[in-house]
Amino acid sequence: PVNSPDDVLESAEAADVRFVRLQFTDLNGMLKSVEIPAHQLRVALEHGVMFDGSSVEGFVRIEESDMYLAPDPATWHVLPWTTGDRRVARLICDVCLPDGRPFAGDPRTILRMAQKRAAQQGFSDFRVGLEAEFFLLALDASRRASVRPSDRSGYFDLVTTDVGERCRQDIVMTLQHMGFAVGTAHHEVSPGQHEIDLLPLSALAAADQYMTFKLVVKTIARRHGLHATFMPKPLYGTDGSGLHCRQSLVQDGRSVFSDAADPLGLSPQARHYVAGLLAHARALTAITNPVVNSYKRLVPGYEAPAYITWAANHPSPLVRTTVLADDAWIELRSPDPACNPYLAFAGMLAAGLDGMTSEQVPPPPANVDVHALSDEERLSRGIYRLPANLEQALEALEEDFILQEALGDHAISRLVRTRMLEWDAYRRTVHAWEHEQYLDL
Ligand code: GLN
Ligand code: MG
Ligand code: MG
Ligand code: MG
Repeated sequence: PVNSPDDVLESAEAADVRFVRLQFTDLNGMLKSVEIPAHQLRVALEHGVMFDGSSVEGFVRIEESDMYLAPDPATWHVLPWTTGDRRVARLICDVCLPDGRPFAGDPRTILRMAQKRAAQQGFSDFRVGLEAEFFLLALDASRRASVRPSDRSGYFDLVTTDVGERCRQDIVMTLQHMGFAVGTAHHEVSPGQHEIDLLPLSALAAADQYMTFKLVVKTIARRHGLHATFMPKPLYGTDGSGLHCRQSLVQDGRSVFSDAADPLGLSPQARHYVAGLLAHARALTAITNPVVNSYKRLVPGYEAPAYITWAANHPSPLVRTTVLADDAWIELRSPDPACNPYLAFAGMLAAGLDGMTSEQVPPPPANVDVHALSDEERLSRGIYRLPANLEQALEALEEDFILQEALGDHAISRLVRTRMLEWDAYRRTVHAWEHEQYLDL
């Protein structure tokens, strides 16, 4: 493992690295990068690299545009698909102010602060495992993404299925080559849809890993003549893509969520954590499901949650608990691949910790198909809906002071503003569905 600047320099030398990409993530969850030639690496590691923060969505105003990137040596990776005189490595960076202080709008900094608050409450680690779903789509004649899945695409079913499976295997091999712990990988419910499970890591490492995962999936897919999409609901009438997040809090080397004496194997703290996730669920959705399209996935019938419930062994609650031997995990099933993982993990942790601090108690687990209940039955059981659209989610976020505090004013105000603009653009657009529905009026 590489963890000091000297290790990085040594590895760069050994792998004959020519360029280094300094990566960071903007508030919208987009991976950004600044490339430096390898001979600048030592200086970058020692002093950081200046860049213009005003050009990055959701960062700073023009008048305070000087920012710098402080590379984290532990994130060093030579990108395995690059070769020869274009051998590229990358480092994930913290975004800092010119005086060296961490920038309050940097998602990595925000997650680190959330972890620090958990540590102050006695939890040595917050771990997250991911079930990462995505679609592989065919390219059209001009090599742009189509909305045709890579398999079941016509006469060549068998052949094109093979392309998708081989592509996924290459993705897994690349991830393993980079030292990432991959669990299982399989074809998902929808045509062209795949899932790769990333084993639990400390939250910051898990978020870094997911950003890298997306880059790997997109890069390898292109090499197979496919387009990988992390759009939450690319196809109407079939499953969308989720990013289920399995969480655990560690104290004295073990998960505080398990209790062998409990019928469900859950500790009281696990129940408080679940209650916190449920209590903040509506506002959290604005962070875990940040685009207009996210809300087309959160509907009944496609294994995605639409209601605020929890259960131990039921297929599609919002929160599902899993107990394996003496290890317990709390899985939030609403997040989708469009989310900024740093902010999503920070938000989940803050919601769960709030439940623990105020010892909230969840309603009884909903071991029924909540979608099959009538509105009256749901209401009498105290089962409420997740927000139906981005605007409702943002409104909930504006009323949630715990999540606002966790993400900080800078991130919240910019997030709400950019997301609301996106909602507004969508709201004004006349869509194909409306033409089909109304042209004959
Ligand atoms: N694709 C489903 C979702 O949107 C999940 C399917 C599954 O893994 N059970 O969350
Ligand atoms: Mg799964
Ligand atoms: Mg799945
Ligand atoms: Mg799951």
